[in-house]
Amino acid sequence: MTLNALSPERVPEPILEVVRRLRGAGHRAYLVGGAVRELLRGVPTQDWDVGTSATPEEVLRLYPGAVVTGLRFGTVTIPTEAGNCEVTTFRIESGYQDARHPGQVTFVRELEEDLKRRDFTVNAIAWDPVAERVVDPMGGMADLGAGVLRAVGDPLARFREDGLRPIRAARFAATLEFEVEERTADALGEARGEVARVAAERVQDELLKMLRAREPSRGFEVLRRSGLLDVWLPELQECVAVPQNRYHAYDVYFHTIYTCDAAPVEKPVVRLAALFHDVGKPRTREEREDGEATFYNHQFVSGQMAEESMTRLRFGRDMIHDVVHLVREHMFDYRPEWTDAAVRRFMRSVGIENIADLFDLRIADNVGNGLKTGFPRALAELNARVTRIIEAQEALTVRDLAVDGTDVMRELGLRPGPAVGRILDQLLEEVLEEPSLNERERLLARIRAGFSVDTPGPAT
Ligand code: ATP
Ligand code: MG
Repeated sequence: MTLNALSPERVPEPILEVVRRLRGAGHRAYLVGGAVRELLRGVPTQDWDVGTSATPEEVLRLYPGAVVTGLRFGTVTIPTEAGNCEVTTFRIESGYQDARHPGQVTFVRELEEDLKRRDFTVNAIAWDPVAERVVDPMGGMADLGAGVLRAVGDPLARFREDGLRPIRAARFAATLEFEVEERTADALGEARGEVARVAAERVQDELLKMLRAREPSRGFEVLRRSGLLDVWLPELQECVAVPQNRYHAYDVYFHTIYTCDAAPVEKPVVRLAALFHDVGKPRTREEREDGEATFYNHQFVSGQMAEESMTRLRFGRDMIHDVVHLVREHMFDYRPEWTDAAVRRFMRSVGIENIADLFDLRIADNVGNGLKTGFPRALAELNARVTRIIEAQEALTVRDLAVDGTDVMRELGLRPGPAVGRILDQLLEEVLEEPSLNERERLLARIRAGFSVDTPGPAT
């Protein structure tokens, strides 16, 4: 890759201003980390990190409105029009206690020392955009140009210091589309114990960043080849080398990660659903007499496993719910002979708001099986029927009915209670079957005609 020239014109004015003010007060100040990396790659960035010889107190004196986000670690966050600028005092870290939190931080006025503690050479380039001076003692620019991800210093020692780094290696391999340098790759699996001790929230964070790569499969492959996949994603490891049937070119694992690649990059929920949609296959696999494999009801086992996995990774309840729902629904089997009522029932159980995501998952699933690609014809037909039903505003939930609980109670002399809900559900079933019934007078007449459901007698 040819690198972009580092030019101050590419840095927003408020960020340049931070560097100028620090320099004006006699300190050294450099852009560091991801910002420099992305500028060199020509990729826009919102994330500005400045390394400085100024102590946090000195930074605060220049920016009294700034927020100390980690005084002990020397980080001060300056809000600017161009987003937050994180200013961190050059530091070295020593005496690691728990593989995540440095025991002791010594402020050093040496940039080179600061760069040595960084994880990968491509993240250890510093650039002063005012003096236009690049400091690159680790050879980060050469690695960036060559597409190589290389640990700074001794890879194993660095991974043992902080078990998040091997996971970040997988993440960067995916997002940058870089090859992991051989010694770095060899050390990844050796830090297994440290990787297992990382806080789940940090792993989740890296996983989500990995899922924003064009091809997350690159990252999963780094983890699998280094023997680290099972540490945080045992469900995925279980799929490795599990054979499928004649509809698939790949085993369950490769099918899964390619499905994830094929899911829309801007939809993390669909990418997560892709990652988990088939993890129940190994546990449901049965071989028929003719040698073909079946995976009956794997979607429900997958849903259960997705919930366990995402809970372990501390995902939020809503996200878990949405992913599990897509996983459980992904096996819908549309046929042209479905009646309109069947299409409406499908829409009711999926929920209109989830249908586009479910179709995206199914399309990705198709691409991921490696034999055929594109928008399957049957799905296009179902999509057209769904669109027509949405446009006709046909009732799909109890809320869409032309009557409500108050009507049911009044017409039948009922008190509030579960019976009212059951009657509304029954009305919805009938309306799903026959949308023309959804008129107020017709439904009131229908209510008066009575129900076979078990309802208590009239209120006294
Ligand atoms: P992005 O913002 O896209 O996630 P980034 O490179 O900016 O990428 P951050 O997590 O924001 O990554 O970290 C900023 C910089 O801090 C990194 O570029 C790296 O130099 C350093 N860094 C972050 N995490 C670690 C770590 N665990 N070990 C060593 N250095 C790290
Ligand atoms: Mg960053």
